[in-house]
Amino acid sequence: MAAQIGKRPAATSRQSRRLIDPSGAVMSRYLLFCNDLLRLDDNPLLSLPRDSDAALAVCILPQRQFSPNRASRRRRQLQLGLFREFQQRLAVLDIPLLLRAGDPAVILPQLLQQYQLERVVAAEPTAPEEYRWTSGLNWQWLDANSLLADELRPDLNTLPRSFTAFRQQREPELRVLAPQQAQPSILALNKILSVAGAIALSDLPQPEPDQPIAEALAQQLPEHFAQWQQHSEPAVLARFTQYLQQHLSHYKLSRNALIGADFASFLSVPLSRGTLSARRAWQLIREHEQEYGQNESSYWLRFELLWREYFRHLQRKHPLVFFRHGGLGLHQVPGTAGEAGEALLRWQQGRTGLPFIDANMQLLAQTGWMSNRGRQNVASYLMFQLGCDWRHGAAWFEQQLLDYDVASNWGNWAYIAGALYSAPRSFNALKQAVEYDSAARFTTLLLGPPETGNHRHQPYEQPDWPAPQAWQWQQYLQQLKAE
Ligand SMILES: Cc1cc2nc3c(=O)[nH]c(=O)nc-3n(C[C@H](O)[C@H](O)[C@H](O)COP(=O)(O)OP(=O)(O)OC[C@H]3O[C@@H](n4cnc5c(N)ncnc54)[C@H](O)[C@@H]3O)c2cc1C
Repeated sequence: MAAQIGKRPAATSRQSRRLIDPSGAVMSRYLLFCNDLLRLDDNPLLSLPRDSDAALAVCILPQRQFSPNRASRRRRQLQLGLFREFQQRLAVLDIPLLLRAGDPAVILPQLLQQYQLERVVAAEPTAPEEYRWTSGLNWQWLDANSLLADELRPDLNTLPRSFTAFRQQREPELRVLAPQQAQPSILALNKILSVAGAIALSDLPQPEPDQPIAEALAQQLPEHFAQWQQHSEPAVLARFTQYLQQHLSHYKLSRNALIGADFASFLSVPLSRGTLSARRAWQLIREHEQEYGQNESSYWLRFELLWREYFRHLQRKHPLVFFRHGGLGLHQVPGTAGEAGEALLRWQQGRTGLPFIDANMQLLAQTGWMSNRGRQNVASYLMFQLGCDWRHGAAWFEQQLLDYDVASNWGNWAYIAGALYSAPRSFNALKQAVEYDSAARFTTLLLGPPETGNHRHQPYEQPDWPAPQAWQWQQYLQQLKAE
């Protein structure tokens, strides 16, 4: 690979990295680690350096986190596509972005040394694994993907134990940080490598062929949902603006649907990949409310963004608890630690015998997406009815979900299992199937028409139905019939 190095600063020793520019100003030299900030809007990394500074922007595809057992091909393709798209968009502005693949804990110190940089600056993560990437280095976090940062950041020592308490504490005078309008410091950003140099030194794996999703399914999701281009910054801003105009008004009523193009915001992929700032999303909802008035739906969308926020801070408070079967140890958690076996495989493949669960799991496998209602039910089913360790389910979601976010995913799983502060929450999948898929349209779309009669949501009436061993389904059935 031909290394085309652009304007290189005068070499300095590692010991004396604070440089003085010709005007006498002290120069800082930053390594801007942009992985979770693939956007120009509200991206404090790109506007951090002053003109007198020098900075190198880099994205690194973390090898371990994107290995096949932790990230599906679809999720890897999305990440690679969004990295490349961001590189191209920055190139148009004459800003170089280096794209690397490997272990950030190895690559970051190498880059610091190679380019005589002082400090790594990145969006503050929530997961211990990502905090460790910079251990031993000079680093600076900017909590650019949280609503409540800087002076609004919750004190982790007194973080309320429940989401409701957190929300009630914040809501009376809820303020979130305004998105930044600052422009990227182009001068500082193109002092170390030229655009062509950064592209030539990039070593991301080649994209693999796309995995199109079946036409019938694709039509039921937002347009081109499966194509990574739809989750890039310009596409997302355009789609969300349109969503606010045309569909926000019914969010509260429609948000529990199982499939559809506009029943919810579909913000989770751009928020988790960093192509949209949570603060920008919040501000756009606020502006919409100012113009058209606040209603239950607009409030509820902000309410859901606060859930995301809560899990982010909770994970920082209890970094390892999110990954322990018993969690905080306050409740009896379902399943046996480590328990998986054949039931897990049937669940992953959508072959449990309960159509409502199977349809959701097949949707996930085919698209990398599942509704919130579906997620709650399949999670509950795996741990309460199949008796598996909930962490196997969380790990499967991590691999499959296009919107995978460590705090939201592991936090929601732990929450349902009762591994956090509140008691376990099990869902009656039989009841939920009737309630949310009453005409069986969703299950029929995924599984085809039922073979016999109208037993779609009453599989237990079939003599050979494989009732899950650990499932108290008779009890569930009674509960269903009692209402
Ligand atoms: C077991 C389980 C695993 C989950 N894993 C993830 C995950 O890996 N990544 C992820 O982004 N969300 C996760 N969620 C939360 C939620 O299901 C998705 O955010 C939501 O379905 C995405 O669709 P949407 O953007 O249209 O949501 P909307 O209903 O439009 O909500 C707007 C935004 O609010 C946030 N939000 C909504 N519900 C939740 C919630 N329960 N917890 C945290 N944030 C929420 C998301 O950022 C979402 O984009 C999980 C939920 C469960 C029950």
